[in-house]
Amino acid sequence: MRHVFGPVPSRRLGYSLGVDIIPPKHCTYDCIYCQIGKTTNREIGRKSFYDAGLIADEVARKVGSTRVDVITFSGSGEPTLNSDLGTMIRKVKERVDTPVVVITNGSLLYEKDVRSDLGEADMVLPSLDAVTEEVFQRINRPHPLLDITRIIEGLREFRAEYTKPIWLEIMLIKNVNDDPDELKKMAQIVSTLNVDRIQLNTVTRPPSEESARRLEEEDLQATCRLFGPRCEVICSFERTGEIPAQADWTRIILETLRRRPLTLDDVVRTTSLSRLQAETKLRAMEDEGLVRSYVLGDDLFYVVA
Ligand code: SF4
Repeated sequence: MRHVFGPVPSRRLGYSLGVDIIPPKHCTYDCIYCQIGKTTNREIGRKSFYDAGLIADEVARKVGSTRVDVITFSGSGEPTLNSDLGTMIRKVKERVDTPVVVITNGSLLYEKDVRSDLGEADMVLPSLDAVTEEVFQRINRPHPLLDITRIIEGLREFRAEYTKPIWLEIMLIKNVNDDPDELKKMAQIVSTLNVDRIQLNTVTRPPSEESARRLEEEDLQATCRLFGPRCEVICSFERTGEIPAQADWTRIILETLRRRPLTLDDVVRTTSLSRLQAETKLRAMEDEGLVRSYVLGDDLFYVVA
């Protein structure tokens, strides 16, 4: 399974089968909070990376063998850079009934073919972390040809065409985009975008830059009130693991850790291991030099060594 990982517990979507259609790390941005690491290929040109049919086969095989609530196109970079995105979604939908979601940074929505590809998905989760150019540059460190006005217009055009749900995520970083003026402007602009939900997030996983710090819960809640009734703070995943037992935990855990850091609780939920089993497994993997752990805030994270 080269492109399919999980299902992993997603705060927003339940058990989400990830489909990684971008090699690390091709992105239009180099966000200071990115949990994948620094962008090595910052670009805006779309191209074909993988065989769409093979990816649809991988997805169908996995959906047939385990519980999956949604199929989520995302992965090690910006998925709309893949020019086969629309074809891949169509092929997956020919094979399985599970809803398809795309998580995107929304930076290429000003392009008609990107909007058309995303039109194939059942739900789109774009992000918007800034509304002024200065803050945009600081937090997202975009490709030089991108500007925030064009990106906001792209979101507006997409909303006008796309009738299915759009959930907009805003990542809030302490002392970067939480200035009251920026937030007020952001709330005003977002109110005109007519998205179905606004979801506030902050740093809860090891970021690309250690300086990217999380907001406190009370600040997030106050910001949430500013954005009105469609806004919510994304809270921790609370469901219990129901994934059938699988044999090769080392491989499965490593496959997921290559895409995102995990806490012990994440590993328990991703697998059907007990807490003790997961802890023992992770400790053994650490001893073998396969993973390493470190503390961020109150959490202990595991990453590939
Ligand atoms: S957080 Fe998303 S948009 Fe930002 S650099 Fe990482 S992959 Fe790209």
